[in-house]
Amino acid sequence: MATLDYAPAPESRAILDLRSSYGLFIDGTFVDPLEGHGFKTVNPATEEVLAEVAEASAADVDRAVAAARRAYQQVWSRLPGRERGKYLFRIARLIAERSRELAVAETLDNGKPIRESRDVDLPLVAAHFFYYAGWADKLGYAGLGTAPRPLGVAGQVIPWNFPLLMLAWKVAPALAAGNTVVLKPAETTPLTALLFAEICQQADLPAGVVNILTGAGPTGQAVLAHPDVDKVAFTGSTAVGRSIAAAVAGTGKRVTLELGGKGANIVFDDAPLDQAVEGIVNGIFFNQGHVCCAGSRLLVQESVYQPVLDSLTRRLGTLRLGDPMDKNTDIGAINSAEQLGRIRALAEAGDAEGATRWTAECTLPSRGYWFPPTVFTGVTQAHRIAREEIFGPVLSVLTFRTPDEAVAKANNTPYGLSAGIWTEKGSRILWMAQRLRAGVVWANTFNRFDPTSPFGGYKESGYGREGGQHGLAPYLASEGSQ
Ligand code: NAP
Ligand code: MG
Repeated sequence: MATLDYAPAPESRAILDLRSSYGLFIDGTFVDPLEGHGFKTVNPATEEVLAEVAEASAADVDRAVAAARRAYQQVWSRLPGRERGKYLFRIARLIAERSRELAVAETLDNGKPIRESRDVDLPLVAAHFFYYAGWADKLGYAGLGTAPRPLGVAGQVIPWNFPLLMLAWKVAPALAAGNTVVLKPAETTPLTALLFAEICQQADLPAGVVNILTGAGPTGQAVLAHPDVDKVAFTGSTAVGRSIAAAVAGTGKRVTLELGGKGANIVFDDAPLDQAVEGIVNGIFFNQGHVCCAGSRLLVQESVYQPVLDSLTRRLGTLRLGDPMDKNTDIGAINSAEQLGRIRALAEAGDAEGATRWTAECTLPSRGYWFPPTVFTGVTQAHRIAREEIFGPVLSVLTFRTPDEAVAKANNTPYGLSAGIWTEKGSRILWMAQRLRAGVVWANTFNRFDPTSPFGGYKESGYGREGGQHGLAPYLASEGSQ
């Protein structure tokens, strides 16, 4: 059957007014860094420079933490919850109003398809602020005693895969609970955090309540290690998370770590297979697989292995890879040359260890960083591609015969962030969910997020929860505690 080709449907950049350079957002204003260093952030789909941003030094971190401390003591911790809530509602509304502009900035800086930044990231960002705005005057009902107290200054460091959404997950509960914030976005995706700083100004948020410091790893390290930071919140790799846990041990700082994952997506032979295939695709190819809770290990029951694989590869052949600003695009660019290198190296390890690589047919653009949707079959549990987080559009397929075997294989990982179950039996879903050692278990769906639902890991996926009522606890001290 002949198919109609897609006409290009590019989103316009005109709505976005980027400055050529950005300073650090400290105490309510953009300031130059004390040591005058800067770096460029690029569009990973084209390698075009988008803007120059400042690199915060330890001295800048001192300034930002001092501003956050002042704002905490003099203003924010003294405001009644309902007043803090008003600011958060205002921020949420501004995000909703400016969501198209923010989606364009996110897609340009990150490489993710505009369809995802517009339809997933931005609605969730606004929803997070709306949700926690509602909690600000109800903290006494959060299950932490009748008068829980904020902790003080929160140091927050986030990764590049959902830049503005990870900011929302951190900033919204911190402010709702009465803390002030110093946040460092990832080096390759600083732009939406800087636009968020503008939104804080637009919302007349008191100076110093939110401070945004751009920079690389050492800036993040300086923020989290600062002696006047009371609460450390980090999302990123397990290796860096481990070093942070070691650095803050014994300091009395409260810590939450949201780290890596190697989620199992488990398909039983009684599952609605067409839906399961859509769920597999969404589980690992959403956001180019740059998702901590990605369903990167497909566990499929042996009796339906071949039909699932045939249907999956057929479906992957229809995905459109290319310009992230095109509204037809399903698979965008890999966020950086460095990440592309990591994905390539792990895929090559898959080849070397004897797995079979299948790649969707697609033409990769000549500029930018790209990796085609890839499936490895013949994977065993010993293979690196079954154990290590690839953080890219690469699926490893394993099989199982019995539910016990599925549980054993799914749990055979140092991580414990997410899992998916595909079956028509409710009793099996519950049986599996009780046994899977994962912070989130999805049933007949995958990668579904909601601000009311807590999210977080077991084992090397970290500790603490973000989202929902649980997400307030890391930012509050209950009565009688220190
Ligand atoms: P990463 O290298 O650990 O970086 C995360 C953030 O930490 C970045 O802002 C980074 O700065 C900064 N950083 C680097 N070294 C640091 C140090 N020694 N001290 C303090 N901060 C430091 O991770 P990534 O590669 O950007 O992100 C991918 C990882 O995040 C994956 O493992 C993924 O699973 C995980 N993740 C987890 C969740 C979750 O909720 N569990 C959500 C999303 C992502 P630079 O950007 O300059 O390197
Ligand atoms: Mg960038």
